[in-house]
Amino acid sequence: MKLKKGGKTSLVIEKRNHIAGNIYTKNEGGINVHVYGAHIFHTDNKEAWDYMNQFAEFNRFTNAPLARYKDELYHLPFNMSTFNQMWGVKTPDEARAYIEKQKESYKVESPKNLEEQAINLVGPDIYKKLIKGYTEKQWGRNCVDLPAFIIKRLPVRYTYDNNYFNDQYQGIPKGGYTQIIEKLLNGIEVRLNTDFFEHKEELMALANHVIYTGTIDQYFDYNLGKLDYRSLKFEKKVVNSNNFQGNAVVNYTRKEIPYTRIIEHQHFEFKQINPTILTYEYPKKWEVGDEPYYPINDDKNNLLFKKYQSLANETSNVTFAGRLGWYRYLDMDDIVMQTLQFVKRHFNE
Ligand code: UDP
Repeated sequence: MKLKKGGKTSLVIEKRNHIAGNIYTKNEGGINVHVYGAHIFHTDNKEAWDYMNQFAEFNRFTNAPLARYKDELYHLPFNMSTFNQMWGVKTPDEARAYIEKQKESYKVESPKNLEEQAINLVGPDIYKKLIKGYTEKQWGRNCVDLPAFIIKRLPVRYTYDNNYFNDQYQGIPKGGYTQIIEKLLNGIEVRLNTDFFEHKEELMALANHVIYTGTIDQYFDYNLGKLDYRSLKFEKKVVNSNNFQGNAVVNYTRKEIPYTRIIEHQHFEFKQINPTILTYEYPKKWEVGDEPYYPINDDKNNLLFKKYQSLANETSNVTFAGRLGWYRYLDMDDIVMQTLQFVKRHFNE
């Protein structure tokens, strides 16, 4: 939209049979299904919030997922509700004292991996019940082999606040996300069902400048080796109920259960429609051809990415963007801000 306003002609190439990438939502019987996993828009950045609100009205949804371990249910993120459910402690002082005592024999000064980081933050009980199993199935690796920053995404609070995010602004667009991208692409040519790599030469010849949002290693034909990603499999279930689990997101933290979470889509929009639609989310090893949902930002992959980035810097007619082009675990608002800054910098719009 911004480029069009600035007098540029754009052409969007999309491999799938629909627009909107992974924020694509599809209305099924009045329920907006998040086809590629739950997307909850949240940001601390007013510019990003205002930008998104131009295209849709956002509701008051606040993410407050539950974590299920065996038959026990806990509030997330880790907060006084969780500590109370786990140990019966009632005040912040009691909770702090309990955690401090618990982690005495585990504490390390500067945590080098996710396990050390998690135990430092919340102690071994919560680590074992709510973090270890979930994280190891999500990433397909042991917590000692994962970077600490992954767990820093989650707040730890000594208040009874079950809001998963710390950000000022949060919500779900009424009517789903697809309309936002439809409006952004209004009047712009889009070619669906088109694999960029199958028509690379011909497409590159059409454009002065290409913005590429696929995986950076594929763009360079995996010349320097393959980067690792984590994939997901989504299993949709239509169930005869108007309220299956009472919450939009329930995490299953035991490693033995093959899915990480069940999403009940209609709770994102406060509906109670029968039948309800659920998505079971299964983490999966990524292989070429699978959808790459998460970059694996460990040292080995970050180093390889840096090498690809040097190649990218030499490729002046192509800009790499997004989670896959930048190889970073970015949220939607990060992408909005980085894109706005990019357009300002390069096209003065
Ligand atoms: N996490 C966890 N237990 C949970 C939820 C999250 O241990 O019940 C950890 C896990 O390591 C996960 C990370 O926190 O990869 C980030 O979770 P988030 O919900 O932000 O992941 P996303 O929604 O991006 O998949």
